[in-house]
Amino acid sequence: MVVLSFLVIWIVCIVACAILADNKGRSVGGWVVLAIVLGPITLLLAAVVPNLKQEQLTSADETGSRPCPFCAERIKRQAVVCSYCGRDVPRMAPVPEAVETQSAPPKWLVYFARAVAGALVLAFLAVVLILHFGGATH
Ligand SMILES: [Zn+2]
Repeated sequence: MVVLSFLVIWIVCIVACAILADNKGRSVGGWVVLAIVLGPITLLLAAVVPNLKQEQLTSADETGSRPCPFCAERIKRQAVVCSYCGRDVPRMAPVPEAVETQSAPPKWLVYFARAVAGALVLAFLAVVLILHFGGATH
């Protein structure tokens, strides 16, 4: 019974990690694999990692301005000197779209990773259940 409840906790952690990763715009397959290996520790990691979707959203909604890295005041996107604190700010890359499309994995790969992760979870579950019930002769 201890093994079974441990397994249930583990699976809950894996599912929670997958949901958290998906909500934060991160690789679901990668986080599921990590959760299978590390279990509840991954859930803590998934909870503290920054939200990629939110970061993309904040950088996307600012069309003509961006926050100063030193004083956090809104300055012009093309500015090289902050008008509030007077410090030199690094020039912004003009088109972030090209980088985004390059770093994003193709859709089929994402679905493939999810399918593999799902199959791994099911296989893991099947093996543990077979070992638990199949080997019980007492
Ligand atoms: Zn500033």
